[in-house]
Amino acid sequence: MLSTTIVHVCARCGSDSIRKNGHAENGGQRAKCLACQRTFILQPQGKRYDQRFKDQVVAAYQDRMSIRGITRTFGVCYKTVSRWVGQKSGDSARLRGHAPAR
Ligand SMILES: [Zn+2]
Repeated sequence: MLSTTIVHVCARCGSDSIRKNGHAENGGQRAKCLACQRTFILQPQGKRYDQRFKDQVVAAYQDRMSIRGITRTFGVCYKTVSRWVGQKSGDSARLRGHAPAR
């Protein structure tokens, strides 16, 4: 008999002190690291976006498109968009949507 044991470790710190922490929107098992408190998905099967697509999304944001508009148009999660925008600009005040309404 052939068996495989998968040891899951924290995505951030590599600790194996993790425990189950509910499920992601797509049904994936979420886990929480007991060492650094980070939560993550054990075996993410999410879409991978290529760099060209990311650039398009960030360009749309820089064209003053709202993040919510981008999530509707491109079908990308709000947090994902704001992360890409943050990576691109390196700006800590990246969430323009959090500014007070005009
Ligand atoms: Zn950790």
